[in-house]
Order: sequence, then C-alpha cells, then structure tokens
Amino acid sequence: MKRSTFLFLTALLCQQAFCQQNEILAKVEAAYDNFAEKSISVRRFKHSDVEPLLLNLKTKQGFAVTKAGESIEGRSIYLVKAGTGSVKVLLWSQMHGDETTATRVLLDLFNFLSDKSTFAKEKEVLLKGVTLYFIPMLNPDGAEQFQRRNALGIDINRDAVRLQSPEARLLKHVRDSLNPDFGFNLHDQNSATSAGSTGKPASLSFLAPAYNEAKDINASRKAALQVVVKLNNLVQNYMPGHTARYDDTFEPRAFGDNIQKWGTSTILIECGAYPNDPEKQMIRKVHFLALLGTLQSIADGSYKKLDSNDYFKIPENGRYYVDLLVKNGQLALDSSWYTMDLAIRLRENTREDLRTYDVAGYIEDVGDMSVYFGYDEIDATGMTIVPGKVYPDVFDTMDAIPVDNIDNWLQEGYTYVKVRKPVGRYVDLPVNVIGAYQTPDESISFGDPATFIVTKDGKVMFTVVNGMVYNPTANNKGVKNGVVVR
Ligand SMILES: [Zn+2]
Repeated sequence: MKRSTFLFLTALLCQQAFCQQNEILAKVEAAYDNFAEKSISVRRFKHSDVEPLLLNLKTKQGFAVTKAGESIEGRSIYLVKAGTGSVKVLLWSQMHGDETTATRVLLDLFNFLSDKSTFAKEKEVLLKGVTLYFIPMLNPDGAEQFQRRNALGIDINRDAVRLQSPEARLLKHVRDSLNPDFGFNLHDQNSATSAGSTGKPASLSFLAPAYNEAKDINASRKAALQVVVKLNNLVQNYMPGHTARYDDTFEPRAFGDNIQKWGTSTILIECGAYPNDPEKQMIRKVHFLALLGTLQSIADGSYKKLDSNDYFKIPENGRYYVDLLVKNGQLALDSSWYTMDLAIRLRENTREDLRTYDVAGYIEDVGDMSVYFGYDEIDATGMTIVPGKVYPDVFDTMDAIPVDNIDNWLQEGYTYVKVRKPVGRYVDLPVNVIGAYQTPDESISFGDPATFIVTKDGKVMFTVVNGMVYNPTANNKGVKNGVVVR
C-alpha cells in the first residue's frame, strides 16, 4: 500500500478518541530523543546522578519539589508535584534499589512535561485533569550498592505494616497525607519472566494487587484493573505479546496490597527484559509512552469505558526464559551419548566501581528443556556438545594476550588461554583465561560454568564462552567478558 493511501485510511479510521491518542503517542515517540534524559542510559546509576535533576525541576514552571525525608544513610528522598487536577495520582519508583528502569521513565516524563514548547495542548489537558505526585528512587541506599534491599538489609516491600525503615514510613506518610486516587508502584522483574508459555518474554508485567485473601474486586480495585487494561493495550502497539500479569496472591506485608486496601487504586508495573536490550532502553521508552497514555486516560476518565474482565485475558507471568538455550545436542555423560538441551543463565556481578558489571554464565538446567525459550538459541540437532580447548601457548600476563588472534582461536574451538600471572575474576576479552598450571572444569552439567563448543563431523559450529555465543561480527564478539580460572 502506498504511504499516502495508508495515511488517508488511518485518518479515516481514526475518528475515535483511542485512535487520536495513538496518533499523538506516535508523534511523542518520534520526538522521544528530544526529551529522554540522556545523562542516564544504563541500569546502574546513583542518587548523586538523580538528585541534581530533581532539584533543577524547582526552576520549572508548574513543578514543586520538596524533600519528603531521608534514607537510613541520610540521602534525601524527594516528592515531585505537577498538575492541578482533581484526580490525584502517586507514583513511586525504585523501592528496590537495583530496579532502576522506572526512575529513568519518570525523569523522561519530567523533561517531557516541563518543556512547554511542544504538545502544549495535550500537556495542559493532562495537568488540568490530574495532579501527579512522584517519589523517584525511594531506596537510594540500595541504589548506591545496586542491591534490592535498603541499608538495614530489609526488603522495603515487606515493611508496609511494621514500618521499621524510614523509606517505608515515608511512603506510608505520603500516601496517607495525600490519599491519592491512584498509586503506581514501579519495579523491575527477573529476565526469566515470560508471557505465560507464549514464547515471548514478559518485557512489562502488570498487577492490580489484591487487598484481601479472597482477591475480591471492589470499586477501587476494579479501577486498577481497568487502568492495567489501558496500559496493556498501549504496550501492544510497541511490543505485541510482550506483556503478562503478575501473581495476585495477597501478600499482607507488601505496599501494593496494602495501598490497595487503604483505598488507593494501585497498579504495579514490572519491567522485565527484551531481546538485545541489556540496559532496558527500549523498555524504558515503551514504559514511558504507555504510562503517558494511561495518565491521559485517567485525566479524561476514558479508562472507565474499558472492560475490567480483559485484565484476566493477559497471560500470567511464567518463568520460561533463559539467556541461552542450546537445543537437541548430543552430550556425552559416562561415555554414552544422550540428547540434551542446555539452559544457560548469565549472572551479573557488579564491579567495585558499583557502576559496571561482569557476567558469569552457568548451566542452570539440562535435559528436556523444550518448553523453554532463549534470548539467544542454538539449534544443535545432529551436533555434539563437547568441552572447549586450551590454547597450548602460555603468555606472561593477561595484557600480553595477542587480542587480534582471539578470533582464530575461538573459531578453532579454543575457549581458554593460558597466562602465567592471571589476575582478577573476569577479563574484558571474549575468551576465558586460565593459570599456566590449571586445568579447566571439563564437565558440562547442571551448575557448571557454561563454556563449551558445538561440533558437527569434527568441525566447530558454535563456540560458547562464559554462557555467551561467540559471533565474529558482533560487538565484543558476542561475549561480554571471559572468566579467569586461577
Ligand atoms: Zn521490586
């Protein structure tokens, strides 16, 4: 179809409010790079990165920024306010310190809303319909260490009733003093999470938490279900099939469940993973667009027209995703050959700088993994899975490894390079390093490091180093880092 014909038909079909909104969101998406907060593009960032951006909002017309309290270690936690509407919406992010995507989404939203030169009419309608309250980075001490828990070592999301941590008390106090109509509880979830067993990862999952064991639906929870339906509909425009709903078993200690109980319609959003999006920049953008569209529907009340039963049509969260799935290979165990799948997981280890990380790939499971999916997959049908080889030469130091030769070694199936003085646990090369007198663990089984080669008729077809598939044309050869065996 010609583009002009397509545009004409789109305009013809888009008389309804829903289509109009999609058109506006498409324009916002096209302009996204102009207001996305560029100073933060990775998952690991700190309070000191966010605080100046929040304080700068004080200079923007229509924004109020107040200090709402402090973390255990004395970091300021802020409450940001925008809008004058009668419907109050409270959004809080990063209650878990290593769940950082939504904090970036809120920063993008602040940039978007504070620039009055674009989408002025839409912003005016939104901010006259709702008053938005934000608590970005509720757990700055956890963020500092890139860990889930706060400085007391507790999970703030299990402290909604006992209220031992200052961060939990702050959230409770803000909720109680504002008594908002809607609450958005913003998190990240494990990359293993799938959209049921549909074969797609759950890049965004939603929950309208239960407020009692019976999972009853009162008017307040029904509104939350409708808002989730709105969010889910919007995400389908960008990542079709990549959504799921979180288990709604009542958790008496959690904030979402209690805030629902206290009468605020509460929505949990969990950012999962998306292929080839290690820092979740794609998910951030989709989250932003879906959140903006949903806030618009709260402002104009249009979410009320949605059928809350559609919530239950969203697939439930499954756990069927691994980082690398090797399917149908022949694996020798006790000198016999067996048909096996290998499910490989990459574990992240934050470096001492607390801003960068190494990965360690290990075999999480072996056997019939046919119901699983991988962000990366190898079809090893008719192939054998065997240990990688150790390159025979020995180098004095890790710096002495001739980097230009590594491609050839990997293609020949060498996955380890010998060094007389190896240091550290990881190496920024697409190959593993081993001490001159060490031997690598050759077993390929449950719990072992994921380094091996896949061969056919004696020829190397795939080389897997530290859980990642070597690819001569990829950045860093598809392998983020090797491990050091000492
Ligand atoms: Zn969380």
